[in-house]
Amino acid sequence: MKKLLADKISLLKGDITKVKCDAIVNAANSSLLGGGGVDGAIHRQAGPELLEDCRRVRNAQGGCPTGKAVITVAGKLPAKYVIHTVGPVWRGGASGEESLLRDCYLNSLSLASENGLETVAFPNISTGIYGYPKDKACAVAVSAVNEFLASDTIVKEVVFVCFDDENFRLYQDFIGN
Ligand code: ADP
Repeated sequence: MKKLLADKISLLKGDITKVKCDAIVNAANSSLLGGGGVDGAIHRQAGPELLEDCRRVRNAQGGCPTGKAVITVAGKLPAKYVIHTVGPVWRGGASGEESLLRDCYLNSLSLASENGLETVAFPNISTGIYGYPKDKACAVAVSAVNEFLASDTIVKEVVFVCFDDENFRLYQDFIGN
């Protein structure tokens, strides 16, 4: 599996707010009104236009449930769109965390595909404030993305953007590049 879609999956160490692609994914919270971690960084760089569009989505559908995804404009970011997904809070692993995390990746990519977006960058969803063990989250992320790309014809490239050394090393080992 590791080698199968290596041409469509890549790895980057750094700050996702600097990545120029069709959509970056935000590890949001269900309020969609901004938070800490990568969410805070994305809102800071994007400016008020992003928060305004998040408010519009929130007013229309009342936030975003865990495992689901919504799309907004990207304000001042180099990316064209932001896809916001809400990862599960780690509660020991027996509360459906794995399936919810998997849904985050699959639903984000479905939304990208429906909107004709070809390049998508992901942060390591749930592995910060939400406490999901990084090794387990990496395995779920790579397997979900690999599965999606095997059957989708729109999304051409997925980049995993690792902010911290531990995640970067785990993804290097797992993907093999
Ligand atoms: P969650 O609440 O889903 O755990 P966090 O934002 O706390 O979300 O953390 C998710 C991951 O995002 C963590 O691995 C953290 O290191 C990473 N992260 C934080 N800032 C950035 C950034 N600017 N770009 C990419 N990843 C980031």
